[in-house]
Order: sequence, then C-alpha cells, then structure tokens
Amino acid sequence: MQPLSAEEIRRSFVNSSKSLVKAMTLPRGFTDLPWDSLDYLGWRDPKAPNRAYLVVRRDSGVTGVALNTQATGKPRRGTGLCDLCNTAHQVTDVALFAARRAGSAGRDGNTVGLYICADLACSLYLRGLRELEVPQGETASPELRAERLTARVEGFVNRVLS
Ligand SMILES: [Zn+2]
Repeated sequence: MQPLSAEEIRRSFVNSSKSLVKAMTLPRGFTDLPWDSLDYLGWRDPKAPNRAYLVVRRDSGVTGVALNTQATGKPRRGTGLCDLCNTAHQVTDVALFAARRAGSAGRDGNTVGLYICADLACSLYLRGLRELEVPQGETASPELRAERLTARVEGFVNRVLS
C-alpha cells in the first residue's frame, strides 16, 4: 500500500471517539514500515494492548477501524485461523477482535467481531515475511492470498460502516 501519514491515520477512524483517537499510539517506527508488503496497516496499541487499529486505503479514501480485544485468561490449546488472511496459528496467536459499528448502531452497542492474527500482521504472514509455528493448509500464491485479504478487509469495513 502507499505509505500513510500520521495525519491521514488520525483522521481516518469511522468508529472511534475523538478522545480515543487522541489517546492512540501510532505503531512503533511507523515511517519505516514495509509498506510495499502491506495490504492494510494494523497494530496493537503499545500503551493499551487491548486496543488495536486497522487502517486501509479504499477507493473512497483512507478508512480506519478501532478494535478491542479481551484476554480471557482461560488456557486455550490447538490452532485457529485468521478470518482475514486464513493463516493458521497457535490459538493464542489469533485474537477475537470487536469493532464498534459506525454511527448510531455503534452508540447502541452493536459490534462486528472477527478472529484476526493477534499482531495484525496478516500481510507479512501470507508473504512468508514472518515466521509461523504451525503447518499451513493454504496453498494459494501470496498474490492471490493478498487479493483475498483485501476483499475480506473491504467486507469487514463495510460491515462496520453499514
Ligand atoms: Zn491474519
């Protein structure tokens, strides 16, 4: 993706209060991110690990979605799949994220939930740029997987916006 500026990121959020955007911490070293290998920008808030953010360039502009995740504290075993990139992980490396829906639906408490790579590094996993601990069932090429990821992110953002 084309690099994003801090200003573009801060302005992009569709489901977040101004105070939350102000409190948001940008990803570490974000000007040096491997933008060419990213389909969306996703990160956990270094100062508030239960908060995460997903920002994507769409035809209509830059859209950001704030996410929340809760640590359950229950020991979990086995493997899990990311709903966005279909990467298989140890179940502890996939997290259930909830996005408040935009507008009045969100104010009424409506959320959209997804299991996503816990570090939101989908793009790096599908390109083989970050190591994986479990065998993968996925055999499609990185290019095809990136296309699918982009389509799923678009679907997710549309659900948040609808
Ligand atoms: Zn993923």
